[in-house]
Amino acid sequence: MREFFRTLYGKISLIFFLLLFLLGTAQIIISVQSSMNFVCETDQTLNRYLAKNLATKFQPLLKDSLNRAGIDHLIHELMIFNPRIEIYLIDKQGELLAYFADPYKIKNSHIDTAPVVRFVSNDPDVRFPIMGDDPRSDRKKVFSAAPISLPDGQEGYIYIILGSELYDTAINGIGGSYILSTTAFTLVLVLVFAGILGSILFFNLTRRLRRMTLAVSDFDKGDYRRRIQVQSEDELGQLSAAFNHMADTVETSIEEMKKNDALRRELIANISHDLRSPLASIQGYLETIQMKEDTIAPEQRKAFLSTILNGVINLNKLVHELFELSKLDALQTKPRPEPFSIAELLQDVVLKFQPQAESKRINLITKIERNLPFVIGDIGMIDRVLSNLIDNAIRYTPDEGRILVLLSRKKDEVWLCIEDSGEGIPREDLPHIFDRFYRVEKSRSKHSGGSGLGLAIVKKILDAHEIKIDVQSEHGRGTRFSFALRVYHPKRQQTPA
Ligand code: ADP
Repeated sequence: MREFFRTLYGKISLIFFLLLFLLGTAQIIISVQSSMNFVCETDQTLNRYLAKNLATKFQPLLKDSLNRAGIDHLIHELMIFNPRIEIYLIDKQGELLAYFADPYKIKNSHIDTAPVVRFVSNDPDVRFPIMGDDPRSDRKKVFSAAPISLPDGQEGYIYIILGSELYDTAINGIGGSYILSTTAFTLVLVLVFAGILGSILFFNLTRRLRRMTLAVSDFDKGDYRRRIQVQSEDELGQLSAAFNHMADTVETSIEEMKKNDALRRELIANISHDLRSPLASIQGYLETIQMKEDTIAPEQRKAFLSTILNGVINLNKLVHELFELSKLDALQTKPRPEPFSIAELLQDVVLKFQPQAESKRINLITKIERNLPFVIGDIGMIDRVLSNLIDNAIRYTPDEGRILVLLSRKKDEVWLCIEDSGEGIPREDLPHIFDRFYRVEKSRSKHSGGSGLGLAIVKKILDAHEIKIDVQSEHGRGTRFSFALRVYHPKRQQTPA
């Protein structure tokens, strides 16, 4: 039982029943009160002129002096005919002058005349019931009253209490119990029906909460696909939707974390491989030189040293690229956009790669549209992008091939295309070439010497500039990389990339 009242369902039910009970009790009190008021009002209205009519009977007994015996007799007679009234003769100040009762039954020989004055005023605004003092008790009661002339020439009142002592006991016994029992019966009926209905409704309402708790606990245990069925748009529905949304985010984050973890492992494996092979070869060559120090021919020594130098250069390049990429990843290197001439930058980069192209007898052609405007971007980073793309184009184009670098304006952008007549990239590899360490040629043979990081750096830099890069390639025919840089408008505010 204690457990039950600890649940939300138990608590809501308890509060509901308590409220129901309080409301029921309040209703009983109000009903009894208003019924009694109604009885009093009707009684007073019906007997409005009772005192006035009786005043005519009393007036002769007050002609010269107070005919006490006659008055007592008349009061006695009238009260025998109508036992539910008590008749009093009072003066203007409310002092009792005559009545029919044992004196010890009279508790107050003085009554408040304010309600009497209101009663006799015939003011249309006066609303019944008007309650007046009862000389025989401390309770207020309905009455009828009428002015009467006293023998000393003063004015007094005939004051009639309508609910006599006898009547009181009768009405309290019969009326009270009748009203009470009816309302109490209604209350019990309401309690039972509302209780049953409330219990069913609350059970249904809290069932949804129980289902939600179950879903959350399943989720907590690792069932990340667990969702709550949203059945309504109320607060619980909104909570379910919010939970589902949160679960989606958590699930995506977990999947991303798993992916990142896998990527990290792969990355470490790749880095280790890429570092180990050149290091092993450098070590091998150095040991050979050391061992055969006296016998090794000078040409051979030269060849070995040149191989070692190449290895060191490659290692240096790899470490440098890794460092660059990790800085871009950590957002330590952010683009610092500035206006610059892309035509000039491109010419410089092409000039830098000319010897490399010539060594393979590759025809490196540049076509730059005239009067190109300045573009906006981080000049150092764009230099890196151009260098990587042109370097790749030269490395993946066979001897005597052709590379075309184009610069042209289209509306508010300057487009840059690097086209080569190289080996191309197979269709299935195209979506992955921007992934770090991804190489079409998985063997990592030395013929191209790449680390698989060049295009990843290109992508990172262009992403930071919010620039999309497009690649088209046909295996065996060549590859074309293109992207657009925004034209710099001196007067317009440039949004930093
Ligand atoms: P790498 O250092 O190996 O060149 P990149 O990230 O620069 O690494 O390039 C990833 C892969 O994309 C390369 O291994 C290569 O297979 C392919 N690739 C890049 N550019 C070209 C190109 N111009 N022609 C053909 N294949 C290319």
